[in-house]
Amino acid sequence: MASVVHRCRVLVIGTGFSGLGIAIQLRKRGRDDFILLEKAHEVGGTWRENTYPGCACDVPSHLYSFSFEPNPGWTQMWSGQKEIFHYLLGLVDKYDLRPNIDFGQKTTGGYWDGEEQRWHIRTESGDEFVTQFVVSGIGALHIPNFPDLPGRDTFEGAAFHSAQWDHDYDLRDKRVAVIGTGASAIQFVPEILGEVAELQIYQRTPAWVTPRMNFDIPAGARRLFGRVPLARRMFRAAVYWIHESVVLGFNGHPRLIRPIEDVAKWNLDKSITDPDMRRKLTPSYSIGCKRILGSDDYYPALNSPKTQVITEGIAEIRPDGIIAGDGTEREVDAIIYATGFHVTDGFESIDFTGIDGRHLAGEWAEDGIQTHLGITVAGYPNAFFLLGPNTGLGHNSVVFMIESQIRYVLELMDEIDRRGAASAVVRPSAQHEFNSEIQRRLARGVWSNGGCVSWYLDSSGVNRTIWPGSTVRYWRATRSVDLGDFEFSPG
Ligand code: NAP
Repeated sequence: MASVVHRCRVLVIGTGFSGLGIAIQLRKRGRDDFILLEKAHEVGGTWRENTYPGCACDVPSHLYSFSFEPNPGWTQMWSGQKEIFHYLLGLVDKYDLRPNIDFGQKTTGGYWDGEEQRWHIRTESGDEFVTQFVVSGIGALHIPNFPDLPGRDTFEGAAFHSAQWDHDYDLRDKRVAVIGTGASAIQFVPEILGEVAELQIYQRTPAWVTPRMNFDIPAGARRLFGRVPLARRMFRAAVYWIHESVVLGFNGHPRLIRPIEDVAKWNLDKSITDPDMRRKLTPSYSIGCKRILGSDDYYPALNSPKTQVITEGIAEIRPDGIIAGDGTEREVDAIIYATGFHVTDGFESIDFTGIDGRHLAGEWAEDGIQTHLGITVAGYPNAFFLLGPNTGLGHNSVVFMIESQIRYVLELMDEIDRRGAASAVVRPSAQHEFNSEIQRRLARGVWSNGGCVSWYLDSSGVNRTIWPGSTVRYWRATRSVDLGDFEFSPG
């Protein structure tokens, strides 16, 4: 098939919360000169991909949704994947975004043409998109991580990743191994327990698990939120400030989150009576160092006689089973990898070539990921990251961060237009200053001092994932573009 060249003003990669968020804001401004590229055949990002049983968001829905597109009708405090996915589908219809989305287009990379002052972005299909602005909304949690275990490819049973759930595979009466005990595993383990014959859970590091206590939002409250927007806004604000209140505990004042650790310890003690199991499940690091998990049914699922928690590691995978680190061989029919995602190296999946032939993936692989405010990169004009490096959160809703970034990006685009310029590129000094400052603050945080290794850190042990500080601080930093941070090129 012949490749096609498309032209637009703004090219957005991805149709998750980030991509749809900026598309909605562009539409609200009356613009139609934007294209969204989506590798799949439907929108939704994380909330399309992750369909494992029990998949839900661990941030309350009234906060994990756009402030500019509230949904008074959330049925639960913490909604399930389907409801969040339908929220996003509803927004696509409301803003008539489908005509602007090019489905089945996996972006591979692109280059900045300095003469033309345009990006040329390529997709796997061979199509090219020539655009003034490129916005990455690919997020950090979309490339499944399969551990490099000896013999993994020799396994003859069913094997799949939690983010690529095989709904055609019938788990009933099967012996199932789950590798990994993070946020995804603790949600689906209780859901599949009833079906399987045997559940072998391979745990490398135990998580801190607090009670979830999810509840249905009563119909009366939903009606009130629909009729009285102020009530809904006050509820959202209350949820926001409850989350924000723990930020100091993560950022250098661990005493302040110790009460959460006490609650998690209490949760463990009350749920698990077997001392050996309790020992296996007790983390040896401070709470917050890894993502804090919330569940009411994970520990009870581990108490089941069907469940074994194996902590000896994995020595080898055989065609019909797994050999643990202590040499014990256990036969299994299926292996579910709940082993997370390529996070810090995931950003390298799209290769941008910037000014003077600079390669972003190469620079980031060599020097570590460096951006300004998680959004712009020196040497790469008119390219923006939403939910870019160091803007993930352990304590609050990333949708808040995305909204701050969208505001910032649109303001910079407007400024370029206002000046009659063609492009803006962040100054290396601004980027350097930003990175030095966040790394200095991260060094004080629980992620560095809590005694754990987490996916927040890159292969050199540098935290390239988390925003160190309050979301208020981030909102302030992105509230208006510091024009001195940018060099503008004439149009
Ligand atoms: P994850 O939190 O990265 O957990 C991966 C698990 O796999 C960990 O227990 C890890 O152990 C284990 N693992 C990785 N490599 C291994 C190996 N080679 N051998 C044995 N075990 C291995 O992944 P996830 O559970 O998919 O969650 C990823 C992120 O997605 C979360 O942190 C969260 O941000 C997001 N998420 C959010 C929700 C939500 O409710 N909003 C739900 C699910 C996921 P170690 O701890 O020892 O590394």
